[in-house]
Amino acid sequence: MDSSLSTAEALAVHDSRIISVGKNDEIKPLMGKKTTVLDAKGKTVLPGFIDAHHHFQIASRTLNLMAQCHTPPHESIDDVIQVLREWAGQIPEDEWIIGQGCLLQDRKLKERRFPTKHDLDKVSKNRPVVLRFGMHVTLLNSKALDMLNVSKDSPTPKGATIEKDSATNEPTGVTRDFWNFIPIPEATDEQLSQAMEKYILQYCAANGVTSIQDLPESRAAVDIYQKLLENNEGKLNLRMRFYYEVPNMIQMDQLLATGFRKGFGNDYVRLGGVKIFVDGGMTSANALFHDPYTFSKDHYGKLAIEPDTLSLYVRQAYQADLQVLMHAAGDKANDIALDAVETAFEKYGARDHRFRIEHMGNVYPQMHRFERAKKIGVLPVPNMGFINSWADQLVELVGNQRGSNGFWCRKLIDNGFPIPGNSDATGTHPENSNPFFCMGRAVNRKTFSGKLFSPEEKISVTEAVKMYTNHAAFAGFEEHEKGSLEVGKFGDLIVVSENPWETPENQIESIKTLCTVVGGRIIYNIADF
Ligand SMILES: [Zn+2]
Repeated sequence: MDSSLSTAEALAVHDSRIISVGKNDEIKPLMGKKTTVLDAKGKTVLPGFIDAHHHFQIASRTLNLMAQCHTPPHESIDDVIQVLREWAGQIPEDEWIIGQGCLLQDRKLKERRFPTKHDLDKVSKNRPVVLRFGMHVTLLNSKALDMLNVSKDSPTPKGATIEKDSATNEPTGVTRDFWNFIPIPEATDEQLSQAMEKYILQYCAANGVTSIQDLPESRAAVDIYQKLLENNEGKLNLRMRFYYEVPNMIQMDQLLATGFRKGFGNDYVRLGGVKIFVDGGMTSANALFHDPYTFSKDHYGKLAIEPDTLSLYVRQAYQADLQVLMHAAGDKANDIALDAVETAFEKYGARDHRFRIEHMGNVYPQMHRFERAKKIGVLPVPNMGFINSWADQLVELVGNQRGSNGFWCRKLIDNGFPIPGNSDATGTHPENSNPFFCMGRAVNRKTFSGKLFSPEEKISVTEAVKMYTNHAAFAGFEEHEKGSLEVGKFGDLIVVSENPWETPENQIESIKTLCTVVGGRIIYNIADF
């Protein structure tokens, strides 16, 4: 499949790149003694998928080094406590007990609430217990709160929320956008590197993902990517383009002092640029809106950075040729992000920059804002898997006007935005790591409860495939080497169980990856497909 989606019978890969595409009898003479032949047996071959927004480090850690507390399958707080107790018994006594749940689990558990510190104290009173519900909501037991000196009088760090009991003013244990302030001892390099290797195989290769645009949580990740590369003779089974989160992962000045610009690295590990949080998350009700949330007329969400500081970072990154990804989930945060881009252009002039606004289009999308984005070449990056994860709860969070339509895709593509496919994988919803799952939601628009959410935003199968190939490549400045199977590009391809164009729309999600090839090497193969 090339970038205009035309197809061919065979292709040849040499030194990890495609050297020829054509008919079987044109390709055969290129075979040497050591050539590996992959016969797709008439099955559909697609370019390897690119996931344009992925938290590889935390997802690897979450799905391998934490207790799995998701609903489903765990339906009550007691079930979750039980899972955490069992996990506590399996890990060394001096380690933090950490569990992973899913987004908005308070609405999915039978009790219809988050557990509290009192619930977690039943797991342990003298060991710190932390339960995560995505990147944004984190629950701590009494021991963990003590260790962090969180009390009824303690100050709340900027951008975070610490929930307090309305009667006693004591912290309940529920925190929002507080994860970065919890000094959980890092997993050892060895634990993390094993978790990453497992994750590549189980969640990337097995789902046909050969490249990701990665948002790590700490610099340890970058170090381990390099170690994995060294241990594997310069090859990884996944190509990462990573973005430093400024300022929590690294200060802007420190990054600028390195002199790196986008594209620095090799075929497997490359620097993409920076990621900056403008506001909090939608599922923690901290996405920043012009109008308040339904549950309080004083709550508009939270800024994660002062607009002036954002603007400065954006200008600095732009000048240093680092691509900028801004997390901006609410309408007001979108506006602040767009303002920052405009100031950069005023100062340094416009060029091909591909500034991205992550999550723009999910909630309360408005055409005038996209028109502004289009004028300055900003790329919105909505997340189609979230139609399943939390579209059902949107009206409850932000009311009918803002919550009843969203996750735009059709209108954005029609307006010329190359929307990139992505999972925003953090381990909360492992199903989203499968591009066919998210493509399915973009095509069928189904929520977790089976409702159709903004069905007029439905896209075609071709458009869905393009999201995870051409468009995602473009979103990371990688269209010259990824996203289609053409001479000169990487030999990254997958064989899939069904032809997506001949599969009924409601079954796109069940298409399986049978074989995954990275740089001409078969890294995942279901025998006898
Ligand atoms: Zn994310």
